[in-house]
Formats: sequence, C-alpha cells, structure tokens
Amino acid sequence: TIKLLESQVDVLVVGAGPTGLLLSFALASAGVNVRVIDKREERIPTGHADGIHPRTLEVLQSYGLADCILRDGARMHAMASYNPSPDGGIMRSLRSFPLQQRATLFQQATLTQSRIEECFRDGMKKNGVEVEQPVVPIALEISDSKAILQSPASHPVKVVLKRLRPGETVDHATFASQMVGSELEVVRAKYVVGADGAHSWVRRALGIDMVGEATNAVWGVVDFVPVTDFPDIRMFCSVTSPHGSLVIIPREDDLVRVYVQLTEIEVNQTGRLDKSKFNPYDIIKVAQRYFYPYKLATPKSFDWWTIYIIGQRVASSYSVKNRVLIAGDACHTHSPKGGQGMNASMNDAHNLAWKLAYVLRQWAPTSLLNTYDAERRNFAEELIDFDKRCVKVVSAKVKADDSEAEGVTQGELANMYTTHAGFISGIGIQYHASMIVNVSNPSLAANLVIGQRLPPGIILRMANFRPFELHDLLPSDTRFKVLILPGDISDPKQKAKLNAIATRLDQPEGFLKRFTPPGAPEDAIFDIITISTQMIPPRLLSHWEKAYIDAESFCGRIGGKFYASYGVSNHGAIIISRPDGYVGMVAALDDVDAVGEYFSGFLRARPDA
Ligand code: FAD
Repeated sequence: TIKLLESQVDVLVVGAGPTGLLLSFALASAGVNVRVIDKREERIPTGHADGIHPRTLEVLQSYGLADCILRDGARMHAMASYNPSPDGGIMRSLRSFPLQQRATLFQQATLTQSRIEECFRDGMKKNGVEVEQPVVPIALEISDSKAILQSPASHPVKVVLKRLRPGETVDHATFASQMVGSELEVVRAKYVVGADGAHSWVRRALGIDMVGEATNAVWGVVDFVPVTDFPDIRMFCSVTSPHGSLVIIPREDDLVRVYVQLTEIEVNQTGRLDKSKFNPYDIIKVAQRYFYPYKLATPKSFDWWTIYIIGQRVASSYSVKNRVLIAGDACHTHSPKGGQGMNASMNDAHNLAWKLAYVLRQWAPTSLLNTYDAERRNFAEELIDFDKRCVKVVSAKVKADDSEAEGVTQGELANMYTTHAGFISGIGIQYHASMIVNVSNPSLAANLVIGQRLPPGIILRMANFRPFELHDLLPSDTRFKVLILPGDISDPKQKAKLNAIATRLDQPEGFLKRFTPPGAPEDAIFDIITISTQMIPPRLLSHWEKAYIDAESFCGRIGGKFYASYGVSNHGAIIISRPDGYVGMVAALDDVDAVGEYFSGFLRARPDA
C-alpha cells in the first residue's frame, strides 16, 4: 500500500487563471487559509484573454491591483463599426464611444492575460500564497453526512492531488498505473473551488451539465504588430464584411488583436477542431479578404494565435452542497464579441470571495453561498442572451434603407452598443432581491439602483477638506460600508435622528454591537462613514477619518454634488454597500433598526446578543 501525504486546508482552488488567482488573492488578503493548484508547468507566456472592462478595473482597484494593469495596458477611448459597402468591401458606419454612458472612473483597457495574472501572483505572494504547479486533482469526494456538512469546522471535501513530473501530460485514465506515493497527497478541505476553465475537471467530477448550445461559429485569433492602411486599427472595431466578421482590439506594446470569424471551416462531429491543421497565416488570409478595400500586410511574426469554437452555455448549477463551487469559464462560455470572458470570470471570484470569508469565519451560515449561485448564474444567463443578440446584430447585413427586408439599420446597430452599455462595461450589472439585496425604499436614494454597484462620487474629509473619491473608501476588505447621510442637520429634526443613530449603535440591540463578534474590533464587519452637507461635531465617529462633507473643494471646482448625484434629499438616508461594492439596501435615517433587520437575514448575531 502507498502511504499518502495528508493535509487540511480551508479553501482549495483548482486552476490559476484569472478566476482562481483573483479568488486566491482575495481570500489570502482576508486571512483565509487557501491553496491554489494548476496543471500547467509554468504560467501562460502570451495570448488568451485581454479585455478589462471599467467595472472590472473598479474591482481590481478596490483590491489595490489596478495600477500595474493601467500602467502597462492599452486604453480604449473610441470604437468604430464597419459594414458592407456597395462595392463589395467594407465602410465605416459608426465612430463613437457609446460603451460608457454612466459615471465610472475608468476606460476599457487591454493587456495580455499573462501580465494580468502576473499582477495577481505578485499580490498573492505578499500574503504568502504561491501557485502550486504542475499539480492536478485526480479524485474528489464530498461527505454525505448531514452532521459533517452542517458543521462549520468540518473538512467534508476530500481531494487527491497528483504532482505531475516534468513533461507529463494530464491523462486521468492512466494515473492508476503511474501513481507514486510521493507524488500524491490527500487534501481535506472545507471548501473547494473549481476555477479550471472551460473544460473544467471539477465540474465534470461533480456531474454538473452545461446548458445551451455549442454553436458552429469558429474564430481565429491573432496577436501581431499590424502594417495596414485601415484607419481605425488602433481602436476597438467591429467589422462585418460581406464575407464574415472580425473584431479589432488595440493592445499594449504596439500589438493589435484581431478576432476573425472563420465561416468556411467545418467542425467535426465531436464538435472539436484539429488546431494542428491551421496556422496563423490561414487566419490572416481570411482577415485580408474581410478588410477589403483596405490592405493588411502579412505579418512577419505573431505574438500569439489560436483558433476555437464558440459555445453559448451556462452550468446548470454553480455548487454541490455549497462545499464545492465552480467559477469563471468553468461555468459559462460565449463569443468574444462583448469581450466578457475574463471580466465575467473575475467578477465571479469577487462575488464569491467575501461570502466564503464570512462563512469560514462563522459570521454567516453556509446558506449565504446560495446567493453566489443565484447572483452569478443569473448574470451568466443574461450574458448568454446578450451574446446571442449581439452576435445577431453585429453580424447582420446593414440595410441601405428601410425598404430592404433583411438586415439591421444603422440606428439599430448603434443602439445595440448604447442600450447594452451598462452590461458591456459591467457598470449596470444588477443583482436581484435576495437575503443580501433589500429592494425596499428606492426613492430615498432615487438615483441609485439597489443591487447595482455604488456609483463613484467626490466628497471632502471634514477635518481638512481633502477631496476623496468614494470608491477609494470602499476597499475590498470584506467589510460592509455603512454610509450615513444625515441630510440637513441645521434642521433640529434631522439632528435628532442622527443623534438617535449614535445612541442606538451604542446599545446591545443596535446592529453594530449585535453582529460584531465578541473580542473583534468594533469596525471588524461594519465601516461606518458619515457624509453630511454641513459641519457636524464628531460624536458618531470612532475616528475623524470617517466624517465627510458634500461641499465644493477650496482648491478646485470639485465636490458638492454627492447628495444630488445619489438622489438623496435633505431628509437623508442610510446606504449599505456590500463588501463587493454593490448596494445592499437603503434605509430611512430614522429607521436604523431596518438596517439591523437586513443584517439579521444573513449574519449570525453574537451569542450573548
Ligand atoms: P482559464 O483562463 O481557462 O484558466 C483555467 C486554469 O485552470 C488554467 O490555468 C488551467 O491550466 C487550469 N486547469 C485546467 N484544468 C485543470 C486541472 N484539471 N487541474 C489543475 N488546473 C487546471 N478569451 C478571450 O477573451 N479571448 C481569447 O482569445 C481567448 N483565448 C483563449 C485561448 C485558450 C487556449 C484558453 C484556454 C482560453 C482563452 N480565452 C480567451 C478565455 C479566457 O482565457 C477566459 O475567459 C478567462 O481567462 C477566464 O478565466 P478562468 O480563470 O475562468 O479560466
């Protein structure tokens, strides 16, 4: 018998792509005991995904990870759309930037996936976590015992890991004959997350189906430095030629990525492509045809290339027993048109990280994880719907005039981007009513959408009038941010309401005392920030840093529009920002107990409360 190494861990993450790395980084930063494994011998050198949406940049900024991406990446400030011209070539139908109608701090950016992963790995290293590679799971078992599953301290998931030898391929079928004890390890985990990509081993081990269609759309992708007379080569471009579509993505270091729809390639009966039958010059030849009348020189070299088939599918479930979960490409696949792959994936990780931290700290019951499945699977379904509509509109013939029966009008094409701008940029992603999204009282902050991310805004620190971007006060540190907007406190009624909040928070029944665990710092779960329209004595505050004012700055014309931009009146409001930056609830200033009720829906009260 082989004697196996045995170990325990709180969270085992399988797969160190953008999803697994962001999740591991976030968990490690939250002090969670986490391990991350990957089957590759080394990290990917070039290629794969590259587009980062404004919302994803906000998220990365909240983890302190955006700087290296913004420093090295390309930015997109304009886009163009091309459609068939009467002479059989292409002509520009649109040049604008409709992707960003709403306030956000960032423009779209692009950077190769490997450099993005490097930023995450460097950040993780600071918390003592490194990717273990090449390592694969070869067996996974979840305990059937209800008692074990219900015990927060238990390790109900058993995973057998195999360290691969140099050059060894991942062929699970032959593992039995190759096993050597020193290469195997039995890990007992509280939670396992499969972030192992579109062909997820974890998903298959759990028996979770992918629901949807494997389309016959085949795309070639080439990264190279272009020589061309095409005028918009340095912009995000969607091109529909009479022969097929292509998408242009400007990139770092003079590179451009071109996605080319390969309409004449047959997919075999198993739905797979034999990549060995193609080379990047085949893809360029097709692109040259689509670019006509513009010329694209055949590149001397390529930074990266690939060819793949698009599936538009979503996993039927994101978890089994709330102990093994899947995230990222393991749960959803779609076309590259909306540039969503890596963004949707990293946002899965962001949604899951704080929930796992709460459950592991026993601050919340395991049922909090149900909201991960509900929120992110619903988003993925909307994403597939959007993808289908986007592919249909962008690939359709543009009508010369309304009398033509087939095709879309120029207006419909332009509207596609405008209508879905919130979705494409990630800014308008909406989580629906649940234990962590209370949609009552929308009129108290009329310009906020409860369930969407809290918009940015400028406020001044009361103590020294230093301007702050609110988002910089909402780091992803797993805490709920409780924004108290007292309104016009020159009105004695408003002042009395503010004082009543301070009194309530000092009482054992108030949410601050009720849910902060015994022995933990007072701000362990709740970061209370007051934003007033007038100077107030700092009675409510644990620290001067937490008092802000909505006023114009002395040193520039910024500030003074915060209440108006959120649609909050002089009667004030309390706004709860979840640890992932989404609006969880809005309450009336004199109803702080409603906030307590909201938290009691998913947080454990301290035992003596
Ligand atoms: P991935 O980035 O796929 O990462 C999964 C990780 O899990 C990988 O590091 C993999 O090595 C590891 N893994 C897989 N199986 C196991 C296992 N059994 N054990 C241990 N580790 C495992 N997106 C685009 O937008 N444009 C593109 O051109 C593009 N090209 C791609 C080309 C390839 C070859 C691949 C694989 C993906 C491509 N993508 C592309 C998709 C894009 O990379 C993903 O949408 C995005 O990276 C999602 O991240 P993820 O971490 O969920 O998955």
